[in-house]
Amino acid sequence: MRHFAISLVALALAGCAAQAERAAAPTTSKETLATQIGEKPAPTSPPPGQQWLYGSAEGTIASVQVYRAMTDYILDQLRVDPAVTRLPYRQVILAMQSTPAAPRFDDCGNKPFAAVFDADETLIWNVGSMRYMAEQGKDFDPAIWDQWERSGAGKALAMPGAVEALKDMRDAGVTIVVNTNRTAANAKGTEDTLRAAGLGEFKHGETLYLMGDDDTGSSKDARRAAIAARYCVIAMAGDQLGDFSNAFNAKGISVADRRKLAANPAVSSLWGSGWFLLSNPVYGPSIRGSFDDIFTPETKWEPAR
Ligand SMILES: [Mg+2]
Repeated sequence: MRHFAISLVALALAGCAAQAERAAAPTTSKETLATQIGEKPAPTSPPPGQQWLYGSAEGTIASVQVYRAMTDYILDQLRVDPAVTRLPYRQVILAMQSTPAAPRFDDCGNKPFAAVFDADETLIWNVGSMRYMAEQGKDFDPAIWDQWERSGAGKALAMPGAVEALKDMRDAGVTIVVNTNRTAANAKGTEDTLRAAGLGEFKHGETLYLMGDDDTGSSKDARRAAIAARYCVIAMAGDQLGDFSNAFNAKGISVADRRKLAANPAVSSLWGSGWFLLSNPVYGPSIRGSFDDIFTPETKWEPAR
């Protein structure tokens, strides 16, 4: 009898639950319920930044445009034109201790020409790891990324326009050097990844500079100085401003001040003429800021009520 009573209660509860579910169905999605109980819902599509960068025609064109402009710039710099005196060539890497606010650029002497590239979302799209992490509902997971650095070869894609551009630059006698914050411990995995993407051969310590090569962590400034000691760097490319100077990553720098530093007249003429920026709406220090950081008060608008 007692069992029977419990069963009746259970049945009644089940009925209530089913009723509640039916009642809730029109207004409360599975995803909303999952969020309410603290779970991150499984994404049904990639985040907007990934859709734009990795999937859209616009993302592809943005990459091709930069690579074409960079190639044209480099070939123009190397063209022997008696009407234009470019000697001595100047580094586009900031001289040691100088900053984008007060830049200095050393003469190249007779060093061989080079172009310096970041790797991730500059030469390659990390589509294998990005999809995996997005499907897991993760923005970024260092342990997964570490595995990706070691074993992602063949699952990263050369960015549109990069293979052709690197060939043209090399044919013109320019050495391609990569300066990336992938770790020195995973050097082989990164060499393999770049090769498998069709971007050519890179050798750690010669044409591949990695985080851990020195004791300055994620700053690329010291590595850039080491590259400039060996090469005449006539162009640089990256997807984040730290690929040009670590001053852009200064602790506590506001969104507005970072934008001002990048646009200040001392360096602004370098954009598209020595410094080349690839688009990355997926991750990095560009993606932050409150409404007040992003929008100025004088542009605030609302519709008439
Ligand atoms: Mg990058």
